[in-house]
Amino acid sequence: MDFSELVALYEKLESTPKRLEMTDYLAAYFKEVPKTKIRRVVYLIQGILVPEHQGVELGVADKLCMRAIANASGQSIKNIEAAFRKKGDLGVVAQDAMSKKTQTTLSSSELSVDKVYDNLFKVATASGAGSQDHKIKLLSELFSSSAPLEAKAIARFVTGSLRLGVAEPTIIDALSVWSVGDKSAKEDLERAFNLTSDLGWVAETLFEKGMESVKTFSPTPFHPIRPALAERLPSAEKIIEKLGTASVEAKYDGLRLQVHKKGDEVRIYSRRQENVTPMFPDVVAATKKQFAAKDAIFEGEAIGVDAAGKFVAFQETVQRKRKHGVAEAAQQIPLKLFCFELLYADGRDLTNEPYQLRREELEKRVRKGTVLDVAATHLVSDSKELETLFDAFVGEGLEGVMAKDLEAPYVAGARKFAWIKLKRSYASNLADSLDVVVIGFYYGKGKRTKFGFGGLLTAVYDESSNQFKSIAKIGTGFNEEQMSAFRELLEKDVVPEKPKNVDCLIVPDEWVKPKHVVTVVADELTRSPTHTAGWKDQEGLALRFPRLKGFVREDKAAKQATTVKEVLDLYDLQRSRSG
Ligand code: ATP
Repeated sequence: MDFSELVALYEKLESTPKRLEMTDYLAAYFKEVPKTKIRRVVYLIQGILVPEHQGVELGVADKLCMRAIANASGQSIKNIEAAFRKKGDLGVVAQDAMSKKTQTTLSSSELSVDKVYDNLFKVATASGAGSQDHKIKLLSELFSSSAPLEAKAIARFVTGSLRLGVAEPTIIDALSVWSVGDKSAKEDLERAFNLTSDLGWVAETLFEKGMESVKTFSPTPFHPIRPALAERLPSAEKIIEKLGTASVEAKYDGLRLQVHKKGDEVRIYSRRQENVTPMFPDVVAATKKQFAAKDAIFEGEAIGVDAAGKFVAFQETVQRKRKHGVAEAAQQIPLKLFCFELLYADGRDLTNEPYQLRREELEKRVRKGTVLDVAATHLVSDSKELETLFDAFVGEGLEGVMAKDLEAPYVAGARKFAWIKLKRSYASNLADSLDVVVIGFYYGKGKRTKFGFGGLLTAVYDESSNQFKSIAKIGTGFNEEQMSAFRELLEKDVVPEKPKNVDCLIVPDEWVKPKHVVTVVADELTRSPTHTAGWKDQEGLALRFPRLKGFVREDKAAKQATTVKEVLDLYDLQRSRSG
């Protein structure tokens, strides 16, 4: 299978923002892909080598990539660096360099998908002494055999700047079209993906064994399940109206963990399916001791508890996510994991069972101990009672309540009314904080000049177009340390122009790759001609008086930020609250 065909697909995908066209391109291409190659091909279209939870990161620095381009093209590193400064895009630099070389040597492409994949995999896994040189050699080898467009694709792939704009739902649509001629198989494919977080595996199963096998996917330890998410409603009354009787649980403001146990081995995944096991040795040990199942997948919220037994703020709990000093952090801020879901236990898939049963099965398995506990819950069918509980939980320093539908299955990867959150509201009219994606930043003026940072331009995620739509310029809520830290962090992600997957009318001082998620509180949502979120009749929605809360939310990927649909719902909530 020639790499050039995949690159031709990349070019087509890049040329259109339209999801339907992308689906057609993908489905047509899939017809040509042999079943032994589809897994790799799907990963390469996703811009990855293996699913994120397997922890293989390409992480090629621009410098290293430039040295490989220089080697392969015979140009000096100075030349390549100058070209990069001018163009700001290593893909274009590689393309130009290799086209100059092609003109002189007339070498033609001879790359296969396998060759590219294998070399990139070696680059990603090379370590130890001499690994930098080895990586350069592996990449140079690829560039040397590349036609210009292939070199562009490789350079962008390795530096994490592919611009295909194609999201998983579109790949799933195309797999469905490939399989049954239309999108009717999409739900089964989606479910398989949500249960495994591995689209390559799902595609391979489809190609090798057919749709019936895709339907048999079930939770599997060490394959993180995409999390079920909560909806919002404005009041206790509305919640009871919707659910009747609900399991009302404390809403802990910590870190969501998904714990997988297989015999004696325990692995822990974050909300974004990263393997975070090394950061939680205490949870690993406690699971072995306190969880009564040989194999299991369960979820809970981890939250720090201080010496006086009080819950600590989210920001302090997440310090644990830093890779260094875990042992000290475990001593200083001992964690408790409040378990609230059981998805799988000893061969039994519980995701399709009603919540009440899952919860009973969970309670049976959590033994008394210091780290694991089950989230406090009450059966409630009266809104006054729900309000009283809400006040009591908030009084204990918790964030609010989660009301759960007793009958609902666990819907992986979806935001449904199976769970409804009611939070302490941070601001007068807006029922919740938003998690927004940084798409640009401003240089500081006046007192902020010395930090080189004056604020953030942010966006929410629109699932239907796979784009980030602007919603707020945030200029307050930063302390000095954060201003310097933002500048340092964002500088690494500056791009020369507005990315294809960003929809925004205003221009910041610098655009950045939509990657980092931050939490923002605001007074309310207002209609505005400047922002594009929820765009209708020449107006979008904007946040009024937005303030930053905390720093980057490392537990969320950009596509897990607040969505346009949620913003529209919040706007409706706000209007219903204000009458
Ligand atoms: P979301 O997870 O909905 O995208 P978020 O991460 O900002 O948003 P919230 O909106 O505050 O979090 O609420 C949902 C989160 O609440 C869950 O993902 C989970 O981490 C946390 N949580 C705390 N307590 C519970 C509980 N008892 N049951 C379920 N989730 C809980």
